[in-house]
This record gives sequence, C-alpha cells and structure tokens, in this order.
Amino acid sequence: MPELPEVEITRRGILSRIKGRTSTGALVREARFRKPAPKNLSNLIQGQELLDIERRGKYLIWRFEHGSIVSHLGMSGVMRVVNPLETPPVKHDHIDLNFGDLTVRYHDPRRFGFLVWLDESENPYEMAEIRKLGPEPFSDDFNAKDLFASLSKVSVPIKEALLSGKHVVGVGNIYCSESLFKAGINPFVPANLLSKKRLEKLVNAVREVLEISLQEGGSTLRDFVSAEGEKGYFTLSACVYGREGEPCVKCGRPIKRAVQAGRATYYCSLCQRMTRGAAQK
Ligand SMILES: [Zn+2]
Repeated sequence: MPELPEVEITRRGILSRIKGRTSTGALVREARFRKPAPKNLSNLIQGQELLDIERRGKYLIWRFEHGSIVSHLGMSGVMRVVNPLETPPVKHDHIDLNFGDLTVRYHDPRRFGFLVWLDESENPYEMAEIRKLGPEPFSDDFNAKDLFASLSKVSVPIKEALLSGKHVVGVGNIYCSESLFKAGINPFVPANLLSKKRLEKLVNAVREVLEISLQEGGSTLRDFVSAEGEKGYFTLSACVYGREGEPCVKCGRPIKRAVQAGRATYYCSLCQRMTRGAAQK
C-alpha cells in the first residue's frame, strides 16, 4: 500500500516534470473508484495550467487555474509520468492526464483510490476526508506537548493510537513499528501513560523514519519518471518490521512479532520494555 513517503515522492516526481504545463485533456478509461471519477474530466482540465500540487496526509491536491483535482492512491494506486507515444497503456491504467508530450498515468488494480474534480468555489481542505486528518508529521503541529495533550485520555496501546491517524497522519504500519523501536517504546503501552519526554523521542523517531524513507524513495525518482510499468512500493531498510526471530540491531535479542488490532507488530522485548522508565536514557 502506498504510504506517505510514496505519495510525497509521487508529488515531487509529477511536479518536477509537469508544473507549469497546460493540460491538453484527459482520458478516463475506467471511472469506478472509491469515488467515481468525472467522465468529462478532459473538458474540465483542458487548457488549464497545473500551478502546483499540494499534499495533505496521503491526499494530493492538484491546483489548476480554475479548480483542483483531489486524488488518493488507495491500496494499490501508482501514478507515473510517461510519454504516451512510447508507453502504451496496460491493464489497470485507468486515467491519463495529458500535458502535451507527457502524460500522468494513474494505474490502480484494486480501485480503492480516487481522482475527483472540485471547481474553484470548493476548498479541497474542506473535504470531509481531509478536514478530519491529524497533524502532518513534519509540521510544527506535531510536537510532544500537543501529542501529550491529545493522548491524555487515550488508553489504547500507543501503536493503535498512532495508526488511527488522529494524532499524526502518514504513519502506516511499517513506519509505526520502526518509529516505536527507534524511540524505545513498547507498542502495547497505553498511550496516556507515556511521558512528554518519551513522546518527544517518538516525535523525533517518526520524522527520522519518514525522512529516511523519503531519501530512499528520492533515489528511485528516476525509475518513477521513466515509467517501467508496474513497480513495487519502497522497501524501507527496516530495523524490526518483517524481522521476526532475527537479532535486534541494538541488543542482538530475537525480534518478536505480535498481532495487534489485526495488524502485525514487530518489536524488541528488551529495547522496548513495558516497564515505565524504560528507554528514558
Ligand atoms: Zn533490542
């Protein structure tokens, strides 16, 4: 599933090639997504310059002169910049956004993503899905003080609280396990028992893990724009995720795996002890 780093790299990749270009139309081969795509998309965007693309959580907001596209990659979506003459569409290539000799191609086998148009009277940030999002991980709104306050009445395990997206957006399952490991926090500890000091470690760890992934993703930017068809998402060089039984990179003990709220959780029982005061180094 595309996570925040993939979405951010997608944004940067498209912007680097398409920003300032005027749309020459669109082709909607399939309109049935989580939200239906407009069948007249071509008329809606044709002749309009793409001014910018913003990201909020995993949503992309494409600013045109007179309105915007809001898109989400869902479970299996990929967007690539292609030269349509050299790259014929393949199965599940559902939408093309054309900008002269370059096309942004939206591929989504499972169609849980979407791409909709909002006219200029509608503010994309007021969309129900976007309005309810928690703070951006790289913004000042994500900090130990506010996190401490927002978790003060949350007694579910910290991992579930992070995954809920209410306290920070974009920390998917893998990033969550990795961040908790970096911060030395046990994934099962009730969120409201964490001190401000430990939450500060967590805030820093979340940013670090996402930043590393962005850097690794950035190095694949060349592949991203060269459009080699269906490609996997980034594989983070994980410390704990997917490493059950392998030695912890800090202490050498075998990494444990548990299932938490239906999701796999990986952790080190020594470096991420349950006892209060653990990892307060
Ligand atoms: Zn360890």
